[in-house]
This record gives sequence, structure tokens and C-alpha cells, in this order.
Amino acid sequence: MTIISIDFDAFYVSCHRSIDPSLRGIPFAVQQKHILCTVSYEARARGVKKLGSLSEARKICPEIQTVNGEDLTLYRAISRNVFAFLSDYLGTDTPIQKLGLDEYFIDITRVAAQPREQCDKQAQSQSHTQTHLVCAENRLTDSEEIYVSITADIRRQIYTHFQLTCSAGISNSVMLSKLVGNLHKPDNQTLLNVRSDAELQAFLDPFPLRKLHGFGRVVVDRLASLLGCENEDDLTVHSARTRLSLLDLEEEFGSRLGARLYHNLRGIDETVVKQSDIRPQQISIEDSSGKIDSAADAWAMLESVTERLVRRLDEEYATVDGGSGSNGRSRSVFELHPSRVRVSTRRTSTIPNTRVAAHVPESLSSAVGVSLFDIDRYTIEERARRLCRECLYSLTKKLYDAGVAHGANKLRVINVAFTDFVNGPPPAPIDKIIRSKKKTEVVHLSSSDDESVEGSEQEEDAIICPLCHAQLMSFTVESHMRFHELGD
Ligand SMILES: [Mg+2]
Repeated sequence: MTIISIDFDAFYVSCHRSIDPSLRGIPFAVQQKHILCTVSYEARARGVKKLGSLSEARKICPEIQTVNGEDLTLYRAISRNVFAFLSDYLGTDTPIQKLGLDEYFIDITRVAAQPREQCDKQAQSQSHTQTHLVCAENRLTDSEEIYVSITADIRRQIYTHFQLTCSAGISNSVMLSKLVGNLHKPDNQTLLNVRSDAELQAFLDPFPLRKLHGFGRVVVDRLASLLGCENEDDLTVHSARTRLSLLDLEEEFGSRLGARLYHNLRGIDETVVKQSDIRPQQISIEDSSGKIDSAADAWAMLESVTERLVRRLDEEYATVDGGSGSNGRSRSVFELHPSRVRVSTRRTSTIPNTRVAAHVPESLSSAVGVSLFDIDRYTIEERARRLCRECLYSLTKKLYDAGVAHGANKLRVINVAFTDFVNGPPPAPIDKIIRSKKKTEVVHLSSSDDESVEGSEQEEDAIICPLCHAQLMSFTVESHMRFHELGD
């Protein structure tokens, strides 16, 4: 297996620079709320820190320029174009897995095995000099020459088409490619050219565990407490590898994850690069606020999130279909249709020193109505408002009320997601009337008529009284809790 890991350099910054060249070569950052989420390498050289505040950055580097990056439309559009380009350029024989907006794993095993053309020679020698080697003293094999040349070619193509630079790692696995790709940034590529297990282990041993792909916070925390290690920086591959047996890891993490971690610590990773869908199977938008003190506050945030989500649905899934509408005019069509919409919340407890009980529902979903796809008749705002009226207001109120009943009503985050994408749109309302008259009723905000929310019946079970474990309907929660207060 030969895998390339690609990570774009300061992606948000580069996106802005690709459409506005005046931003190139200067200290520049992209800001979300008051935090600098991406910082150009020029600003980093001046000491500006990623995820630092704008006011701090201004003190160190007064001439730093910033743009607001809360709207992700530009980054998503460029990311989509890059992915479509790579898929097209590399062909179906080359699985490409996309992580977030700017990272890719590419399995080049089959491309690398194809016969090379002679004209590659010059490009090969060029890419050779640009490539960092983990073991400088090991001469490249013929196969490795090919890997570095393919990687250099991909990076060159990306730069030519998008004016974006990236850093790449090349090895025989996802984990190791990611690790070596991070060694030389920006605009560099690194090859793991070890020749023996001993060389590989010597390279891997000094790394802190959290630098390894697949060693997330939860895993590293558990390993740290298993080894009685307070400072995570001290927890290296070497210490975990030499002090934990396969049995120890299997006991702590179960046989599958335990065995995976055991092998990872020895540089063995069999993760397969999974071809990503060109279009995501779920899209979501969320927002947070410290000031949600009523269901109406929650609804206000819900409306703005829903509008942004509908806009994104159009950007990613709708295309104009020339001339296939009735009377031959062009109309907009969806390539895939989400069949459900989900509201999720995160909240903090209003009772000091307690956590929100695990059984308080955090998420409810419903089927979407057909009007969501009527893009030629309604504006984005109207479609968002309809979706809110059809189901989202009511789902959000249920979540809010369940929180109130559990002393956990301090909503902080609202996330709305379209899920379960299918080919065709949902049935038109007329079919629904035939199937079930009740399901076409309109939900009024103040109404407690929950029957009109299709698909919510099952989730209704999620509201359980924390004191007596009775199942409650959302509109009975308040009176039920009052009953406990009086009775106890
Ligand atoms: Mg990146």
C-alpha cells in the first residue's frame, strides 16, 4: 500500500488569497468571532498564534490584516472544486478520502504500479530535490522515485489550478503519512524511507502519542491515566509501547481497538483509504450563544441557522436544469434530497455543580416537507421559514421544555442538519392527505398538537422523568414535575 496524506497550508487564508492577490505575502489572518482561526505564515513568523485573539495579534503585529471567516461558503466551494478536480485527475482507480475541508488521504498503490512514461524523468529529478527524507542516508528506491514524483505532480496540479499550496506525507499507511506530512510545512513533501522495522521504530518512538492519527483525546487520556502519566507530552510512543502489553490494551479498550492501538505503536496501520462521496451525506450548520433564556430566543437562533442551512443545501445540491420544466423553461433541480431534518442542542445545567443528565434529549428529527425543494417558487428565506413552521419550531420547543423540566434549560448551541439523502423528493402533500389526514396539519407555535410532526412519535419516548422514570409527552413534562415538587 502507498498512501499520500495531503494537508492544505493555512487553507482559509489561501482561499482568500486565491481570489484577492493583494493579500499575498503579508501578515494576514481569518477571524471567527474574536479568534484568529487561520493565520498566514508571514504572521506566524511575527509571533501571531493560531487560535489567539485579534487584540493580542494587533499588539505583536499592528499591520496584520484580517477578514471575517464565519461564512464558510467560499472555503466549501473551493474545497468541493479541489475534490472534484482530484477525483477527475486521478481517476476511479485511486481512492480519495476527504477529511474536513482541506485534508485528503490518497491511495496511489495502483497508479504507482502503472508503467511510467519517459517524459516523467525530468519531473522526477525535480521532485526528488524537493522531497524531505526521514532517513537522509537511505537512497531512494525506484518505487520511491515514482511515489515522490506522483506526489509532486498532484501538488503542482493543485497549485496550477487553484493557486493553493499543500504539504504532503508519503508512506505505506494513513497514520504514518499523516505523521510525516506534518514534519515539513508549508509547501513541502516528506517521504518515510525507512528500510527496517528497527529504523521505523526508532523514528516513531520519540513522538508524543497525541501526534498520531487515530490517537484522539479520549484514547490518550485513558492511556495517560493507565500509565499514571500527568503530563501528556511525556507520554511518548516509546513509553506506551514498552510499558503496555497487548493484553493491557485489550483489557482497557476491548479487543478490536486494543489490538489496533498495539499495532499502531509499532508503526503498523491497516486503515484503508475510503473513497469519499463527492457530495456529503449530511450537512449541518450550528451557532452558539450565551443568551438563550426562553423558547423564543431559541427560535430566533433557529431561524438564522435554518436559513443558512437552506442556502447551503442550494449551493451544494441544486443545479439549473436547462429547458426541462413545463413550457420548456429552465428550472432548478436537486441532485439529491435530504429526507429528514434534525435539531440538536447542547446545554449547560442551571443547577450549580451538576452535569446535564444523560437522559435529557439533545436531538430530535422529523421528515422534511416537499416545499423545501420548490426553489423556483419560494425564496431561501421563505423555504427556511416554512421548514421552521412545519417542524423545527416544535422540535426545538420540545428540546427546550425537556431541558426546563430537568433544570438544564441553558441552551448554548443549536445545530440543524439535513440527513438521509435520497434521489427523489418527498411525496407531495396530496399523497400525504390520502395516506394520513392528520400529518398535513399545520403546527402553530403555541399549539401542543404534536401529532402533526411526522416522524416524531418515536422520539417522543426520549423524554423520561428523572425521578420516577415515567415516559412523558413533552406538553405534560411541566405539570408532571410540578406534581413531584408538591408530592415530595
Ligand atoms: Mg490544513
